[in-house]
Amino acid sequence: MSVRVRYAPSPTGLQHIGGVRTALFNYFFARASGGTFILRIEDTDRERYDQRALQDIYDTFDWLGIRWDEGPRAGGNYGPYFQSERTRLYREHAHRLVDSGRAYYCFCGAERLEKMRGDQAAKGEAQGYDRHCRNILPEEAQARKEKGEPFVIRLKIPLEGSTGFHDRLIGTIERANRDINPDPVLLKSDGFPTYHLANVIDDHFMEITHIMRAQEWIPSGPLHVLLYRAFGWETPEYCHLPMVMGEDGQKLSKRHGSTSLVEFRGGGYLPEAIINYVSLLGWSYDDSRQIFSRADLETLFTLDKLNKAAAVFDYRKLEWFNGHYIRECADGDLAKRLVPFLQKENILGDPVSAGEEKTLLESIPIIKERLRFLGAAAGLLRFIFKDAPDYTAEDLIPKKTGAAEALRFLEEAKTLMAVFFEKTDEENEAAFRELSQKLGTRLGNVLGPLRVAVTGSKVSPPLFESIRLVGKERTLARIGKAIGILSQAA
Ligand code: GLU
Ligand code: ZN
Repeated sequence: MSVRVRYAPSPTGLQHIGGVRTALFNYFFARASGGTFILRIEDTDRERYDQRALQDIYDTFDWLGIRWDEGPRAGGNYGPYFQSERTRLYREHAHRLVDSGRAYYCFCGAERLEKMRGDQAAKGEAQGYDRHCRNILPEEAQARKEKGEPFVIRLKIPLEGSTGFHDRLIGTIERANRDINPDPVLLKSDGFPTYHLANVIDDHFMEITHIMRAQEWIPSGPLHVLLYRAFGWETPEYCHLPMVMGEDGQKLSKRHGSTSLVEFRGGGYLPEAIINYVSLLGWSYDDSRQIFSRADLETLFTLDKLNKAAAVFDYRKLEWFNGHYIRECADGDLAKRLVPFLQKENILGDPVSAGEEKTLLESIPIIKERLRFLGAAAGLLRFIFKDAPDYTAEDLIPKKTGAAEALRFLEEAKTLMAVFFEKTDEENEAAFRELSQKLGTRLGNVLGPLRVAVTGSKVSPPLFESIRLVGKERTLARIGKAIGILSQAA
């Protein structure tokens, strides 16, 4: 039997690290085992449905370069792949369970349920449906239903015994039936299914072989197993994935930092880095290997390398991976990826001019080594494409010197600029060394004011390369401006 797995998001919010991890593991498992990866949209909760969340699912996986074999846009023989288009199937099957005595009509209105909850609270009893309608005789229920009384369909949870299932990663999970939510609703009064009913029916009819999902779904497991049994179906294999935590040991959430893929994408994380790092959240190939491309994972991923222990999401580590993949990019490729980020900061025009394109390509080598995410490029490159950011006289004055000295250093540095562009970096460095000796100061005290004058910042890409990219004319003008500022301060 060939592997069929699914990612089944509810379009109620943005795709986040946890969901993407689930999707990737299912996708890689399918690829590595020659199986089928299915995207199913669990959109039966019409109140929480959000069109933008659906678009975000498409955008996120397009960006990651992950394609599903069956699902929206892809089609397939097991569709439709939107649960909202499968409601007839759910309704029929819910009624089938009533006919076979496994489920029943419940006519309790909101008012009665509220009173029940109040009474339970007052008596300090456990909360949950009191099975009030479980014993209504079938004929009576049928009659009330035909009269048009609103109803929901509830599953009969056995009153005794326990229900268990085997989880591939965790082992046996067993729960006393009395601890399962008493007689959960399968079909709501509006005819829409609950998550449990739709999820089980779809996994069955879509012939899902393995259910890989987050551990937070474990509590639903026994209930789902009871549903499979009620229908007389076989359960798929379960494999609940370890939790993803923040560094404080709490479930990863907004409190820890960005979690949605939109944020990572917007900040300039590369899909290669996200795929690589997220795949290591609960999976490892061996004790040492860290770098995996999508293609690597498509062949190497196996379930027996999953880890039981919770994974910790480490933002610095992701940043390290991102830096790695940035350095791996060819200059031309990196330049292309940077364009939208530089356009957003008005550093490049739209469309990009030929001159801008050339300068950008020449700028790549001076930032590539230190760039951790694409969004940081604008700050590093602005002075090349635009004027240098403003600075004060203070910024131009090295520590333990004064305005008069800084002025003198800069004036001398300016004279070196006359020949700078014809010389090599080594020659220029020698010339500045000599100059600093002549001035009786440290090399840094000569280069510091020059750096601020040309780049507008005390930290910049390598100075000589930066000066070359700014060009002679603009460099001289910038030094001139800095000299003016210092003269006023001196
Ligand atoms: N729709 C559920 C979710 O949003 C699916 C859970 C499952 O995989 O069974 O995660
Ligand atoms: Zn009832």
